[in-house]
Amino acid sequence: MSLADITARVDAAISAAGRSPDSVSLIAVSKMQPNARVEAVLREGHRSFGENRVQEAGGKWPEFREAFDNIDLHLIGPLQSNKVRQAFDLFQTIHSVDRPKLANAIARIADELGHCPDLFLQVNTGEEDQKAGVMPADADAFIAQCRDLNLPVKGLMCIPPVDEEPSLHFALLAKIAARNDLAGLSMGMSGDFESAIAQGATHIRVGSAIFGDRD
Ligand SMILES: *Cc1c(COP(=O)(O)O)cnc(C)c1O
Repeated sequence: MSLADITARVDAAISAAGRSPDSVSLIAVSKMQPNARVEAVLREGHRSFGENRVQEAGGKWPEFREAFDNIDLHLIGPLQSNKVRQAFDLFQTIHSVDRPKLANAIARIADELGHCPDLFLQVNTGEEDQKAGVMPADADAFIAQCRDLNLPVKGLMCIPPVDEEPSLHFALLAKIAARNDLAGLSMGMSGDFESAIAQGATHIRVGSAIFGDRD
């Protein structure tokens, strides 16, 4: 697979779903990929990338930003409250807002700095112990709480359980977003992005299908 192959599959899935051409953003997930592969995708003109660790992103993206304009960086992995300030420096969007303590820390730093990345709230649709995110039953209250903090909540994010049909989880996330008037849906990875697009994904996070297996 390559960026061009994935872009073609994304376009086909958008058109099969009867959605408008620019309704889905492809985030190329570059975590744990060699820099040469990331640079190749940058040279092809792609600008939207995802990383799941603040520290790893901080080690490679400042240099890429010097070499390429308009890089749009997304944090898709867990964020500790004490790394929020660094995350504000690096990322335009944070997809992993998963608990009140983190929302409060983001609000505090946003007030201090006068700006805030776009935010997606993570929902643990599979109610898995080991996975981050608020439980589906707590999602409405968490969304309201983040709105009370004046946070720029753009949508919801989920990572379905590996052994379950992902479309059920995508549908659940879409339902929670719709009843809360949230337009953004960050869902779909290498193995299931077409199904996510069919269910209304606005942001898909695709790593290995673009870059190959990770180190
Ligand atoms: C790694 C990761 C992805 C990309 O996974 P692939 O299977 O390589 O496409 C997407 N979302 C999150 C949250 C990830 O951590």
